[in-house]
Amino acid sequence: MKVLDNITNQLIEFRDQRNWKQFHSLKNLACSISIEASELLELFQWSDTPQYELSKPCELSKLQKEVADIFIYLLYFCHDVNIDIEKAIKAKIAINESKYPVMKAKGNSRKYNEL
Ligand SMILES: [Mg+2]
Repeated sequence: MKVLDNITNQLIEFRDQRNWKQFHSLKNLACSISIEASELLELFQWSDTPQYELSKPCELSKLQKEVADIFIYLLYFCHDVNIDIEKAIKAKIAINESKYPVMKAKGNSRKYNEL
């Protein structure tokens, strides 16, 4: 995926310029993905409404930043472990299509083994 390759190259250049690869063990990157996902979840903490207040530009900006943080660490992780994220996603979609056939899963939130 050309766009992701370009972004990944930009991220690697950013990291190399700062000599930060030494801090990016796979464990640290995996932790960082989870931490950033928790920061996304934190935006919903104490909210009484099931939907985020997307009408407020500042709130949308917060969501965008956390989504970007998650994806940046994911791209670092995939780069360092040599995972082709496009191939991985397509393979997972195929698995999900077979686990969740439309006839059984449409409008149903149950796990595949409970359909
Ligand atoms: Mg963050």
